[in-house]
Order: sequence, then C-alpha cells, then structure tokens
Amino acid sequence: MDTRTKADELVSINPADGSEVGRVAITTPLELDAIVARGQAAFRNSGWKELMPHKRAEVLHAIANGLLAEKEPLATLQMRDNGKPIAECRGMVDYAVGAFRYYASVCETLETDVTPRRGDYVSFTVLEPYGVVAAINPWNSPIMNDAAKVAPALAAGNAVILKPSEDAPLLAPELARIAAAAGLPDGLLQVVQGRGAEVGAALVAHKGVGMISFTGGTTTGRVIGRVAGERIVPVALELGGKSPHVVFADADLDHAVAAVAAGIFGSSGQSCVAGSRLLVEESVHDEVVARLVDRAKRIVLAAPDAKGVEMGPLASFHHRERVHAFVEGARAEGGRVLCGGSAPEGEDYGAGAYYLPTVIDGLPHDAVSCQDEAFGPVLVVLPFKNEADLVEMANGTDFGLACGIWTENFKKAWRTGRALEAGSVWINTYKQSVTSTPFGGFKDSGIGREKGIDGLRLYAQVKSMFFGLQENPLPIAK
Ligand code: NDP
Repeated sequence: MDTRTKADELVSINPADGSEVGRVAITTPLELDAIVARGQAAFRNSGWKELMPHKRAEVLHAIANGLLAEKEPLATLQMRDNGKPIAECRGMVDYAVGAFRYYASVCETLETDVTPRRGDYVSFTVLEPYGVVAAINPWNSPIMNDAAKVAPALAAGNAVILKPSEDAPLLAPELARIAAAAGLPDGLLQVVQGRGAEVGAALVAHKGVGMISFTGGTTTGRVIGRVAGERIVPVALELGGKSPHVVFADADLDHAVAAVAAGIFGSSGQSCVAGSRLLVEESVHDEVVARLVDRAKRIVLAAPDAKGVEMGPLASFHHRERVHAFVEGARAEGGRVLCGGSAPEGEDYGAGAYYLPTVIDGLPHDAVSCQDEAFGPVLVVLPFKNEADLVEMANGTDFGLACGIWTENFKKAWRTGRALEAGSVWINTYKQSVTSTPFGGFKDSGIGREKGIDGLRLYAQVKSMFFGLQENPLPIAK
C-alpha cells in the first residue's frame, strides 16, 4: 500500500486507492557519472548558452506549448502520482506553462548594467550560466516545482539535471520528453531517479555539478548546504515553514475564516506555505474557532477526481503515518483536538491515504507541535492579546517562509507585515504565489529567491567586463 522500492526501481502508488501507477528505474552511480558528463558536454558544445536570448526564448515557448497540449494527461498523471485534486493538478500544469513563457520573456528582455566609469575604460556586467545545475524537488507539486527550476535555469543558459522525489517520480521524465520534442538540445535537461540519501546525495556531491537548487525539508536542506559549502558551489534552498495566519478582531471574518481554511486544508496541508498556525485576537477567538471547525467538518474529502472534491488523500501512506504521529504528539503535549485527528471512516476511504482536517487548540506557543511542520491538514490555534504579543509569537519559530494578516486597518497591516519575519506576506489574502514575484524564506526556511527576475539571476553569475580606452601604456604604479 505504499511507494514500494525494489533494488533497481521505484514504484509509484496512487494514494487514493493503493494501485500501481508506474515504475521508473533507479539511476546507478555509473549512469549518474554518464548523465553529468552528458550535461557538461551539452552545456559546452550544444551552442545553447551562446544562442541569442530571443532564440532561447523560442525553445522555452515551444516547451510551454508542449506542456499545454498535454495538460489533461499531465494533470491526471500528477493526480495519480501524488493524490492532489484534479483541479489543483490542472492549475499546476498551467503554472508550469506560465513559468516557461515568463522566463522566455525575461530571457529576451533582461538587461545588465553599464557601471559608472572611474577610469579610462567602459565597464559593464554580463550574466554567465554556472554549467550543470542539480535541481532537486519534493513530492508535493512536481510539475509546478520542476518548471519553477528548469525554466529559469535553462533561460540562463545552463544544463539541468532534475531529481524528483522517490514518492512522485513520474512527472519529471514527462517534462524532459516534452522539452526534447520542443527542440531543446540533447543533454540539456536530464532526469535522475532514486532515493534522496543515495542518488540525491551523489548528485549534489558530484564535481561536475556547478550549482544546486533544492526544494524540500529544512533537515535535508542543511545536509545539502553543508556539501555545497564544502564544494564552494552556489546553492538555493527553498525549505519548510510553520507560517502564522493572523486574524485581528477588526478583520472581515467571513473572508478571514475562508482563507484560514484554504491556507491549511488546501492541498491537504502539504504545502510549504500552509498557514499552519492560526494566531487570532482574543476577543474574536471563540467565534473564529467555532466557524473554522464548522468549515473543517464540511470540507469535501474525496477521491481527487470526485465532483466537488476539496481535499484529496495525503501523498502516500507513510506520510499519513507521519501526520498522524504529529497529531498524537500534540495530544500528548496537552492539545485539544477540536475536529479531525484521525483517518476518516467509511468504505470510500478504506483504500486511500486520507486524513481528516484537524484543528487543535490549548497548546502553549513553545509546544513542539506549534513549532514543527506537520506538512498535513493540521492547524494549531493560538490566541493573542495585542500586537506586541502577536509579533513575538509569530516570529518565535525557526521558520520564516510566509504569513497572512487579516485586518481592515491598513496601518496595522503595514506595521505587522513589516515586523513579521517571512519571505512572503499576504495581507487580506493568502497563498498567492506567482511566477512573476520572488519567493523564498527567511531564517531556517531557506536561502535565495526563486520566481520573478531574481529567479533567473539565481542561475547566473555576474561577470564584470572592462574595455580599456587609455591612450598610453598602463603604468606599474598608479
Ligand atoms: P525532503 O527534504 O525529504 O526531500 C526533498 C527532495 O530531496 C527529494 O527529492 C528527496 O529525495 C531529496 N533528498 C533527500 N535527502 C537528500 C540528500 N541527502 N541529498 C540530496 N537530495 C536529498 O522533503 P520532502 O520530499 O519530504 O518534502 C517536504 C518538505 O519540502 C517540507 O518541509 C516542505 O515544507 C518542503 N517544501 C518547501 C517548498 C518551498 O518552496 N519552500 C515547497 C514544497 C515543499 P527522496 O524523496 O527520494 O528522498
């Protein structure tokens, strides 16, 4: 009933019903060497990095067209690979299409600087690719996360080796196939498969890899960061979160409650930016919690392709065990489970990795379950007295990925938004994450920014160039 591995292959299991979806071969160490060598050869010899940006953009647009042409099969494959509702999977294919189109445009239009002269020369900057980029992604949103790395890395002129999670391995090869059919030169986008601690670790440590872009948990991020530091290669880390969702008493409570529910129960909570801590002002605490629990109990938990589905299963059976262990831990710490806290009962759910939307209160802010990421549909509720109290609690975790703030007072929104330590601040909205706006974490939530123009610069190094204009030979001493 799980993602089973044999020695030489991974088997993807549909978490909605336990059936087998597909198999991929695990990359051997010898194959990895050959793949890196092929990537390096493509980087040096394919002409990709020398191609005029508008010509590179044409290929990126062709990849976007290829993805769009296969939107439905790709969305269905992702749904079966990791159990996300079909509407979300369609949205993620759209996101991937948009990422390739956006980075085609950035590639064509990105300008570098002519820097102020301080002598007899003209000085300016150009951007150079790193070579072979290792792009490592988690299982929660494969087609979206893959495009978010591959599109800007290719746009910047690199070759890419993509390593998907062993728990959702089927989308990355599809992207590589579509890119090749769209005219991307051979070897510029390759996929390796296997367990993170083996194939992922070998990829990161490989001396032919010139840059690492990782999305995943903070523990793994630290391991990869250490290797990158030792090798002195640049690394981007998009890591976990325990994002505070703040509701002030003066908020539009209809909108706030809907957003808090969407922020934690969307994608079954398997989102790095899930609003997993509700910080609610004391005077509206009881009303907000009652409405939220009512909403949570009415969520349509069903097969990912069922009509009206709001929450599907978790991505794997072993992940459901982890989420349930987290809830048991919260109980042991004295938390009151107001709803959920178990797998649902009934024959519709028996074969799948479903888990009920869960709301827990009564915990102190420093409880482990208020500090650690559950990566599931589990919300902890913490009341606050005033702004100072709120800011201290909201910032009182090691994470700093995102936050939401609900208030009708724009000055309070500004003050709070500036005070909270988070890479993304959503005021009177939540979980807006778009290709055109930088995304990344403060503190233990990461280093570097993906998306936006910064997202292309992430995959390029600045070279400064000087053209001498002096009439006389350069003196030894100046
Ligand atoms: P992991 O950190 O366990 O794994 C992420 C990826 O890294 C997988 O492909 C994994 O392979 C691989 N990996 C594991 N160990 C190593 C290693 N030593 N060297 C190289 N690669 C390795 O995270 P999860 O897959 O469990 O994903 C959940 C986490 O991802 C959560 O913490 C979540 O917050 C975070 N995340 C962050 C996002 C962001 O943008 N900030 C977005 C989405 C998720 P394998 O799976 O085969 O072990």
